[in-house]
Amino acid sequence: MVTIAEITNYLEHIAPLSYQESYDNCGLITGNKSMEAKGALVALDCTEQVIDEAIETGCNLVIAHHPIVFKGLKKFTGSNYVERTILKAIKNDIAIYAIHTNLDNVHNGVNQKICNKLGLSNNQILSPKTDLLKKLVTFIPLHNFEAVSKALFEAGAGHIGNYSETGFSLKGEGSFRGNEHSNPTIGAQGKLEKVEEIRFETIFPAHIQHKVLHALHSSHPYEEVAYDIYPLANALNTVGSGMIGELETAMEETQFLSLIKEKLSASCIRHTHLQGRKVKKVAVCGGSGSFLLKNVIISGADFFITSDFKYHEFFDAERKIVIADIGHYESEQFTKDLLLDLLMEKFPTFAARLCKTNTNPINYF
Ligand SMILES: [Zn+2]
Repeated sequence: MVTIAEITNYLEHIAPLSYQESYDNCGLITGNKSMEAKGALVALDCTEQVIDEAIETGCNLVIAHHPIVFKGLKKFTGSNYVERTILKAIKNDIAIYAIHTNLDNVHNGVNQKICNKLGLSNNQILSPKTDLLKKLVTFIPLHNFEAVSKALFEAGAGHIGNYSETGFSLKGEGSFRGNEHSNPTIGAQGKLEKVEEIRFETIFPAHIQHKVLHALHSSHPYEEVAYDIYPLANALNTVGSGMIGELETAMEETQFLSLIKEKLSASCIRHTHLQGRKVKKVAVCGGSGSFLLKNVIISGADFFITSDFKYHEFFDAERKIVIADIGHYESEQFTKDLLLDLLMEKFPTFAARLCKTNTNPINYF
């Protein structure tokens, strides 16, 4: 038996909820985490038709990229598609889970999938996020240094880029005097004690703070563990918006437009003027990506593949780059495959399936 919690914990290990944008509403929207997951239907959008498909296929969990509820709902009368979808899900005991901008922002998420489809390599996050890292400084008696640092690393501290177990240590002297209620590991109540200690510092992603502190308290010998936590302004290069990669061999712009049509199943591409130069560096952003245009131009990309550009925003290309707007649904359609692959990797015998309902609200005549 697999519970909804086991599935959502796994997905949140890959795309932590704290990586979502402030306007978003990722996570479990209906249902209870302790419910047994009988089957999962993976969709881009959660609509009434998708809930119907879940009922027909015996799935009590819908995993959708876009959250069906984006803003506060005050009435549940079925007066619009959002209320009707929620009502139908609740009446039929169906859990709805959204994995949206948190999956956009991770290195192996929505944009990596697009890059892979296009055969791009050296893929990097285009606009890395800041304020996601913290620093821990703690003071460890000499003999316990190995055990405490090991526990902290095992809890996920100390990762920088391709390096793990990164830390810095400096020997010094710690002092303390316990009162009549204390139970000091070293020394005695009421007596000033001086101990040779190591000041140890390491870095960790903010969302695992509880794990890191738990590891510190369970491995450190002292009754009161002294430690400081500092927020860091450093960027975390593996988390952020958009992605930039390179084609193995540069190609003509029209040839590249044909490649986009073929590899990303885009029936219509709205694009700015071609530059008359070969395409090598390509930036991508699944979904609405116009907010990233400035970063894309600075990055030196030749092409920017995304969606939802407005008429006036196309002018901002200023002939420095070719914007290729392939449609929102088209840019994110492979997110379903990405999610299904992730689920199959971890839960190979679990009944997860791709949604067959085409939820794209836009048609091309
Ligand atoms: Zn989207």
